[in-house]
Amino acid sequence: MSKLPGASKRDHGVGRLMETLKSYLPAEQLVQIIAAYEFGAIAHKGQTRKTGEAYITHPVAVAQELANMHLDSQAITAAILHDVVEDTSATLEDITENFGNEVALLVDGVSKLDQIQFHSRAEAQAESFRKMMLAMIEDIRVILVKLADRLHNMQTLGAMPRDKVKRIARETLDIYAPIANRLGINRLKVQLEDLGFKHLHPFRYRVLENTLKKSKGSQRQIVKRISEEFVNAMAREDITGEVIGRQKHLYSIYKKMAEKKRLLSDIVDVYGFRIVVDDVNTCYQTLGLVHGLYKPMPGRFKDYIAIPRINGYQSLHTTLFGPKGLPLEVQIRTRQMDRVAEAGVASHWLYKADKKTDATPQRRAREWLANLAELQQTGTSEEFLESVKVDLFPDKIYVFTPKGDIMPLPKGATTVDFAYAVHTDIGNRCIAAKINRGLVPLRTELQNSQTVQIITARGAKPNPNWLTFVRTAKARTAIRHHMKNLLSTESADLGKRLLDRTLKDLGSSLRKVGKVRMKAALEELGLKDNAELFEQVGLGQRLAPLTARFLAGINEDGESEANTASLVIAGTEGMVVSYAKCCYPIPGDDVMGYLTAGRGVVIHRNCCGNLSNFRKHPEKWISVTWEKDIDREFSCQIQTDTLNKPGVLAEVAATIADCSSNIEQVEVLGRHEDCSMLSFLLQVTDRIHLAKIMRNVRSMSNVIRVSRDCA
Ligand code: MN
Repeated sequence: MSKLPGASKRDHGVGRLMETLKSYLPAEQLVQIIAAYEFGAIAHKGQTRKTGEAYITHPVAVAQELANMHLDSQAITAAILHDVVEDTSATLEDITENFGNEVALLVDGVSKLDQIQFHSRAEAQAESFRKMMLAMIEDIRVILVKLADRLHNMQTLGAMPRDKVKRIARETLDIYAPIANRLGINRLKVQLEDLGFKHLHPFRYRVLENTLKKSKGSQRQIVKRISEEFVNAMAREDITGEVIGRQKHLYSIYKKMAEKKRLLSDIVDVYGFRIVVDDVNTCYQTLGLVHGLYKPMPGRFKDYIAIPRINGYQSLHTTLFGPKGLPLEVQIRTRQMDRVAEAGVASHWLYKADKKTDATPQRRAREWLANLAELQQTGTSEEFLESVKVDLFPDKIYVFTPKGDIMPLPKGATTVDFAYAVHTDIGNRCIAAKINRGLVPLRTELQNSQTVQIITARGAKPNPNWLTFVRTAKARTAIRHHMKNLLSTESADLGKRLLDRTLKDLGSSLRKVGKVRMKAALEELGLKDNAELFEQVGLGQRLAPLTARFLAGINEDGESEANTASLVIAGTEGMVVSYAKCCYPIPGDDVMGYLTAGRGVVIHRNCCGNLSNFRKHPEKWISVTWEKDIDREFSCQIQTDTLNKPGVLAEVAATIADCSSNIEQVEVLGRHEDCSMLSFLLQVTDRIHLAKIMRNVRSMSNVIRVSRDCA
C-alpha cells in the first residue's frame, strides 16, 4: 500500500475512497482499485466536468457512493472505469487486459445502458423503459453503477443548460428513482428523488426547503432533547444502540401534499427518530422502553419485523404523544435491518470475508429475492416478488418502434413477430425489415433496445415459411389463419376446374347442370353452397368423377373410360397442387396427379416407383398436363459418380451454378476407393434446362456418370 495517494484536496477524492474501502475490503483488493484510478486518470487526462473539475473526480465519486454501500472490489473498479470506453481512447480490450473479464463486462454493460435514449414521457412508456433497462443487464451491479453515476451527475447538474437540466431531472424521477425503489435501495432512491424534484421544480423546492428550515431551529432543540432522553433511558437498561433524529425527505413531503392534499404543517410538525440496536430482542425491549417514556398513540404501532414490508423492509414503527402533544414517530431496528433498508439488493454485495465469492451476480440477486420471499407471509407480496423477479430475470426483450414507442416481445422474437405485434395487417403485408436503419432478413432475431422498422407492400401475403421461425402466438395464429383462407380459395378454384373438366368428359358442364339441379344436389349432400363443394373436391375429400356423375344425374358407374381431358397445371396453383418429393417432377416430364384428402393434388412422374402403391385407387388419379410457358423454378434431383479428387465437389457445384441453377442440397450417397456418389437437389425451369446442366456436368473430366432416376 505504499502508493496509496494522500487524502489531500487535489487527489480527486481517491484518498477518502481508499479510507472507506479499507474499512471493509482486504488490502490486496485495494491494489486493483488504485491501478484503476491511475488508468482512469491517465485516460481522462485533460478532460474536465462542466463544473470545471478534472473529469476523474466524477468516476471516483461514483465509486465512493458504491463504497458507502460496501460493494465488492470488481464493482468499485468498474465504477472508476465506467466512462473510459465511451469517452476516451481506451478500449474494452484494454480493460480486459488490465482488469480482467468481469470488470470489462461491467463497464460494457454500463456503456450499453448509456446508449439507449428515453424519449416519450407517457407513464406506460416509462414503465417499459425501466423494464428494458433491467432486461439489458446481465449483472445487477451494472445497474448499481449506473444509479450511482446518475446520482453524481444529478449532484453536479447546476452547470448545465436549463432545458437539459429539466430533461435529466424528469428522467431521473421517471426512470432511475423507481428502479432504485424497485431494488430496495432506499439511500439512492431518496437522493435521486430529492435532486430530481429540486431541478425539475426549483421554485416549489425552495419554498418547501425554507419552510422546513424555519421550523428547524426550534425543531432541532426538541429533537436533541428527546434523543438524549432515549439515550439515557437505554443506558440505564444497559442497551447499546444509536439514536438518530430522522431527516425529512423533501420529495416525499411534496408528494404527500400533492397527492393527499394535506397541509404542510400536518406533515412537517412530526418528529422522527430512528433507534438502531444490536439484535431483534433488543428491538422489542427498546420499544417497551420508549412506550414507558411517552404514551403510544393507539393504532399506530406496526411490527414490520414479524411481518416485513414487501420490499424486505423490517422495523418496528410506533408514534408517541411527545411533549405538548407533539407526535413523535419512532423506528426501531437492528443494524442488519437498517442496512437492508438502505441498500436493498446491494446489501447482498457486502463483502464477507468468510464467504467464498464464487457466487455469480445473478445468483446473488436471486438470493436477495429468495430472502425477501422467505420474509413474506402475506399473499399480496407474492405478486410483488413475482414482478420483481420478472424484472430482474426477464424472459422478454424490449425494442423500439420508429416512433420511439417501446414494444415488449418474448426472447427470440423476430422482425415478423414485431410486425404482427404492431398490427395484424402490418404482419400480413410485411416484405422486409430494418433494424437500426439497416436492412435485415425477416427471420432475424431481435435484441434489446433495437429500433425496428417494417416495410410493407400492398398485396403482399404471409409466407408459410415464416411459421418455422416466428415465436409469438399472435404471429403464428395470424399466419395459419391466412393460410387456411388461402387454402380454401385455392382449393375451391381447383375443385371447380376439376369438376367442370370431368363434367365435360360426360358431355355436360357446370353451366349445363344449372342452378336448380345444383341447389338440389347441395341439399342432398348436406352442403351450404357451391364454394364448399368445390373446396371439398379441390382438397380431394370428394372425388371429382363421382361428384360429376352425381351432378349430371348419371347413376351407373360403368363408363369411366371417358377420362380424357387433362387438368392443366402451371405451378402457380399454390398449396393445393404440390410436387412429389419422391420423384421431383419438372415441366416436360410425363406426370399424373394423385388426389390426397386434405392436401389437394400431388404431382408424380409416370415413372415414379410409388405409383404402384397408389394403383389400388384409380379413381383418385387425374390426368395432368403442363401449361405451355411456365415461368418458375422446380426442385429436381440428379446423382453423379465422381473420381475421388480434391475439389471435385466444388467443381461440380461451380458447373451447375454456371448453368444458372441453384443448389438446394448436396448429399454424399456413398464412397468407394476411387469414386464417390453424390446427390444434388437443384432448381431448374424445365427438362431442357436440366438436360443442359447434365450435359455440362457429364463433360467434366472427373465426372464418371450423371443420372436422374425415379425415386
Ligand atoms: Mn458517468
